[in-house]
Amino acid sequence: MPLNEDILLIPTDEGTFLRTGWCSPHCGACCEAMIIPVNPLVLRNRARFDDWCKWLALHGMTTRVRGEDDVEIHIPIPCSELTKEKTCKVYGTDKRPNVCGRFPRHPYDIESVADICTYKFTKVEEGETAGDTFSRVIRERGSES
Ligand code: SF4
Ligand code: SF4
Repeated sequence: MPLNEDILLIPTDEGTFLRTGWCSPHCGACCEAMIIPVNPLVLRNRARFDDWCKWLALHGMTTRVRGEDDVEIHIPIPCSELTKEKTCKVYGTDKRPNVCGRFPRHPYDIESVADICTYKFTKVEEGETAGDTFSRVIRERGSES
């Protein structure tokens, strides 16, 4: 296990997840886009919603329906504080939003950067303790290497 492993147990509406991994230095992939939650009432008229998604896609944005009351759009606009070296200019200062320090909090958060992000979410299955889940993660890592 790497020394900088950042392990967290995160309860969500879809169950509890064990987040393992770490934030890779000079990655910055999740700072290249914005994830904005939108009012789920947009789902009331599905045809209009689908048409809106089509229009957003023409602007390079993608829409994700995470649940009946949870919709978000991904906008590919990089953060102004991301350097060419993919570091955060405001890291460790009050200018850095708390949301950056908490990220990622849900498997959906890293869906668009899944091939790049070094965090991994594993669901704590029914009857399993967080320790059991962690052992499973370690076993799976062993079988992958
Ligand atoms: S995509 Fe993952 S590894 Fe890369 S900067 Fe974001 S949280 Fe860190
Ligand atoms: S403030 Fe820093 S961590 Fe947050 S999105 Fe911008 S570059 Fe990334």
